[in-house]
Amino acid sequence: MNQRETLKVNEKGRLEIGGVDTSDLVKQYGTPLYVMDQKYIEDMCKIYADTLKNEYGDGMICYASKAFSCKEIYRIINNMGIGADSVSGGELYTAASVGFPMEKICLHGNNKTYNELCFAVENKVGYIVLDSYTEADTLDDICKGQGVKQKVLIRVNPGVEAHTHHFIQTAKVDSKFGFSIDSGEAEKVVKYVKEKANLDLVGLHCHIGSQIFETKSFLLAVEKMTDFYQYLKNIGIEFDVLNLGGGFGIYYAEGDEKKSCAEYANYIKNIANELKSAVEKKGLKKPYLILEPGRSIVGEAGITLYTVGRIKDIEGIKTYLAINGGMFDNPRFALYQAKYTVVAAQNMLAKKDKVYTIAGKCCESGDIIAEDCQLPQIKEGEHVAVLSTGAYNYSMSSNYNRNLIPPVVMVKDGKSRYVIKPQTYEDLIRNDI
Ligand SMILES: *Cc1c(COP(=O)(O)O)cnc(C)c1O
Repeated sequence: MNQRETLKVNEKGRLEIGGVDTSDLVKQYGTPLYVMDQKYIEDMCKIYADTLKNEYGDGMICYASKAFSCKEIYRIINNMGIGADSVSGGELYTAASVGFPMEKICLHGNNKTYNELCFAVENKVGYIVLDSYTEADTLDDICKGQGVKQKVLIRVNPGVEAHTHHFIQTAKVDSKFGFSIDSGEAEKVVKYVKEKANLDLVGLHCHIGSQIFETKSFLLAVEKMTDFYQYLKNIGIEFDVLNLGGGFGIYYAEGDEKKSCAEYANYIKNIANELKSAVEKKGLKKPYLILEPGRSIVGEAGITLYTVGRIKDIEGIKTYLAINGGMFDNPRFALYQAKYTVVAAQNMLAKKDKVYTIAGKCCESGDIIAEDCQLPQIKEGEHVAVLSTGAYNYSMSSNYNRNLIPPVVMVKDGKSRYVIKPQTYEDLIRNDI
């Protein structure tokens, strides 16, 4: 399994999360069901925020809310004193609906719409991260109309190669995100935005990719970004803010590193130390540092519980075990062959002498959750849990095949509660004319 402090196997051989037996969760809420451990989320927020404060000083952790966005998560992270990174009007709206302090939000996106930009400015979002010339023009006009000056950053591309699956790597020169530093594009756009009367360009942003374990890639990004800050300083442009994005890796399955909450603090510590010495060496002002972890805050906090349906044994080839979920609640295998650990939630101590491919119920051959899972013999009606589904599962879910998106239950101190209610068939036809 992973190292989540509150994921345990109890004396009945059943999986427990946050002190709650998954059998009880299945009985109370049914399946498929997303379950999230609130304490894990809070521990991660606290450890990130404390480490940034103690090891660096001025800065802010912004939870990348595209990983898992709903009203309750904005309440939780706000209680933990951290900000949010948002990528759409819908995420901004959700945050605003629970009174989230909008000045602690960074708005991203390579193609924010006019309405999204208006909404962000009206709601006094802290930072808008620009990703094109015309976006700068549009935003400048909107701000002029509303009589405000908006703090902005520009997304740049430091050209750091992070070791991860290429589909989720975003900082290469060929990327739909950001302006390349090496090609000179970044310098051009900095000068362009500097001239905008209603935009206050306070710094730059980069996000080198996702599911990255190597600290070195982040340190390299610090070097490239501070080199560029130094270059700009020499031509008379100085910045107060540096946003280095997110991307810290989590444990999904064998081959991934297992880290405790506390070990995640080391990423922040290493980045902080590298940045402090870089600014000193290069004669820069120490910038306000923004970091945007998403996956590592919620990913390992979540599991998904399913009921096993048909089991198809194809002699000499493989055994498909079909669950009552699939790509509509977790499209990550279908999208980029993401790996997961699957366990027999109510039979954790049994000998794992079977190999199954876990298939979803959608009409799509690619609707697989995990391949080659080592599990005990499983029968129809039993339950399996897929681990580390807290990030990019609910947030990527859909009603494909008009399946219902499962509800989300939060557990803490042995208690559970809905944070997202189950959908109904009524919900599916609500907007149909
Ligand atoms: C997705 C994203 C993040 C978060 O990445 P994780 O891998 O979830 O930590 C942070 N910043 C930006 C701009 C992103 O697009």
